[in-house]
Amino acid sequence: MNLNKLIVLSRSVKLGRNVFAARGACLHHFQSRRFIRSSARSLAYAKDLFLGKVNKAEVFPYPEIRNEELEEINQLVQPVEKFFNEDVDSMKIDHEAVIPPETLNGLKELGLFGIQIPEEYGGLGLSNTMYARLGEITSLDGAIAVTLAAHQAIGLKGILIAGNDDQKAKYLPKLATGEHIAAFCLTEPGSGSDAASIQTRATLTEDGKHFLLNGTKFWISNGGWADIMTVFARTEVVDKDGQKKDKITAFIVERAFGGVTSGKPEDKLGIRGSNSKFKPSSTFVLEVNMWIQPRPLDLGTNEILRMYIALTGMQYAGKILTGKIKEIKKGNVGVVTVDFGLTGKDGVVHPSLTESAKMFEQNAAHFGSTVESLLYRYGKTIVEEQLVLKKVADVLINLYAMTAVLSRTSRSISIGLRNHDHEVLLTNTFCKDAHFKNNFLLTQLQKNSPENNDANIKKIAQEVLAKRAYVCSHPLDRTF
Ligand SMILES: Cc1cc2nc3c(=O)[nH]c(=O)nc-3n(C[C@H](O)[C@H](O)[C@H](O)COP(=O)(O)OP(=O)(O)OC[C@H]3O[C@@H](n4cnc5c(N)ncnc54)[C@H](O)[C@@H]3O)c2cc1C
Repeated sequence: MNLNKLIVLSRSVKLGRNVFAARGACLHHFQSRRFIRSSARSLAYAKDLFLGKVNKAEVFPYPEIRNEELEEINQLVQPVEKFFNEDVDSMKIDHEAVIPPETLNGLKELGLFGIQIPEEYGGLGLSNTMYARLGEITSLDGAIAVTLAAHQAIGLKGILIAGNDDQKAKYLPKLATGEHIAAFCLTEPGSGSDAASIQTRATLTEDGKHFLLNGTKFWISNGGWADIMTVFARTEVVDKDGQKKDKITAFIVERAFGGVTSGKPEDKLGIRGSNSKFKPSSTFVLEVNMWIQPRPLDLGTNEILRMYIALTGMQYAGKILTGKIKEIKKGNVGVVTVDFGLTGKDGVVHPSLTESAKMFEQNAAHFGSTVESLLYRYGKTIVEEQLVLKKVADVLINLYAMTAVLSRTSRSISIGLRNHDHEVLLTNTFCKDAHFKNNFLLTQLQKNSPENNDANIKKIAQEVLAKRAYVCSHPLDRTF
């Protein structure tokens, strides 16, 4: 596998400052195409659910593309599919724990190392929708999927979104062709989910021209062979009040600078399951989620992502609801809207899905009022309530997934897509299930709810923590 355990950064590492335009000639056969750029919708659909609002215009109708774009997608997809079917030997890759050079060259020729790099830098410049479509094929092989994702979804992403023009011109052309491989170096032996605790340090040299980076990175995909690395390190900065503070900065590190050593590649039990994905409960729902929004929920450990989702939404709702909560405290309780107009005469959901849409509407309204009462109950201390926040995130994830399947299936029925009856069945099954799960979660979130088990969970955690071990004796420890 191309996943190395260790990168040690020591000695002098120059920060890529004196950059110069180096636009490589990286023409390949997709470059002459007109590329698909599906427009990103702008409203915060998921955040507004925290307010009990359903911005239907954001998610209905399901994203549509023009016929000529569809043709382009198929032209792009076909050679990639052919390559994966005929030239990628996944069993060999898994057995030998290496992607053969000819396979890597094939991926490079297909432009797959520069899927989202703009055309002006030699990439394919594709939209998230197209990236997701190609991802359906590249993920047929776990090792390839991880290699490509570490390269472009994280490794070079910093240069793409935050790099200056010189840095882009210097690095992106070679990264787009795969001549250079990128890696993202955040995790350390003592710092994983808690990324702010990294210890790698960058210090400015006395002449003020270079940074010296010192530290150890761990579990870095592409770490053993990457040419360009985005490395996170602490630096001392002086803030506005003249106080010295540690801040975290991302550095572009070229292996060619010297001083970077890699440990032995880490052997893993398959790579397919290695990236923690945020999965709703069925393949169909996961697939739909990928298409409905430009930024699907993805990557990271589940607990941390759930906290992120819940806190982002609660903070948003908190800001908007401050005035309303004051009113509630005075006893002026508002009325909850349950009909969001998804069904009926001007409804956006197909009539065959009315029952599922109604369940979604009920849950969405109930969720909005629950968020309000949680903010009323906890105020800012909600950030301490991890068990509460997990439930909030779970409801939100279910609501989002319900939206996605309702939107997609409404479109499938309306345009007479083959086998849409089966989609209706899947959607109704999922929505019914999610509806009851949401009802249970929302009930648990009510004050003094008998369904709430948090007190027991906290007690168990305290006892395990105190003992730093599993507390129970083994049943075979002794006889009666
Ligand atoms: C195959 C693979 C490839 C990787 N590639 C890269 C890479 O390219 N670049 C890179 O920088 N890193 C990479 N990583 C590292 C990855 O980002 C970390 O594994 C991840 O951030 C989790 O950190 P950790 O493993 O130290 O687990 P920990 O942070 O120790 O977490 C262990 C468990 O505790 C839970 N947990 C942690 N904190 C909390 C909390 N406050 N509340 C509740 N639960 C909590 C977590 O959800 C998790 O279940 C890779 C890892 C793997 C396995």
